[in-house]
Amino acid sequence: MSATIIDGKAISQQIKDELKEKCAQLATKGINVTLAVILVGEDPASQVYVRNKKRACEYIGYKSLSYELPASTTQKELLELIDKLNSNDEVDGILVQMPLPSHIDEKAVINAIRPDKDVDGFHPMNVGALVVGDKGFVSCTPAGVIQLIKRGLPDYDISGKECVIVGRSNIVGKPMSLLMLRENATVTVAHSKTKDLEKVCKRADIIIAAVGRAGVITKDHVKEGAVVIDVGINRNDEGKLCGDVRFDEVSQIALAITPVPGGVGPMTIAMLMNNCYEAALMHNTGV
Ligand code: NDP
Repeated sequence: MSATIIDGKAISQQIKDELKEKCAQLATKGINVTLAVILVGEDPASQVYVRNKKRACEYIGYKSLSYELPASTTQKELLELIDKLNSNDEVDGILVQMPLPSHIDEKAVINAIRPDKDVDGFHPMNVGALVVGDKGFVSCTPAGVIQLIKRGLPDYDISGKECVIVGRSNIVGKPMSLLMLRENATVTVAHSKTKDLEKVCKRADIIIAAVGRAGVITKDHVKEGAVVIDVGINRNDEGKLCGDVRFDEVSQIALAITPVPGGVGPMTIAMLMNNCYEAALMHNTGV
């Protein structure tokens, strides 16, 4: 058996094209979508992420406001800028690119963003809304994983499936578990203290790997016919981009698998763009 390769690039393009159309419709009503992007320091990976986010805005037709601040920016200065953007009615979404320099408290920054402009879905109010099943912004990567499965495998029903998520971070593993629960999966969250990861993973119909270690999920972790979603972004010994899953061997036994690159990665930006659209709609129509 050889797995279906779920094409995250194509699915994210589909979502961006849908948003482009919806954005044009909003524009006919005089409504524009504006995202403010803040980058502190010169981390090369963050610069690439910010550039890609600005490009996606441009493609869809959103306005992006860019704030590129030196690494010496103080927490107070950053919080003042967020405050200004919070009260600027033109701004629908505020994104602060993480990680921040070590002298800035990331939690304080996340908490300062107005929840209705928190398009990353990191604010405790939005996380809480997800827990209790209320409307709110959902963290983009896990939201992207749900779209990947639904659009990439349209005949696959998540309901009732055994789902094992490996990783319990606030931005991926934890919200992923809540979204899978919302889809009626039976959810297990594994982490670095999990005993016998192979055995835990082996019972899964759906494995979502969000660890950050190249090749940690092997064919011995995967039941034949499982759906395997690889969130990890790592470099292998040759410096090549790779995921947490040993793609070559797992793709021989899985029902479906996402590649790295070209799987979950592009979906994160597409879902960020979706959150910006939802924010503009809410700010302008109250829906
Ligand atoms: P974190 O480092 O915050 O979390 C990693 C998680 O993996 C932790 O919960 C940790 O457990 C667990 N873990 C570590 N080692 C093992 C192990 N040997 N066995 C089982 N569990 C283990 O990472 P993130 O959640 O932020 O990111 C995970 C990966 O996803 C990274 O590669 C990151 O680059 C990528 N990523 C990709 C995105 C995309 O757009 N595609 C977006 C965000 C992240 P414990 O809690 O016990 O320490």
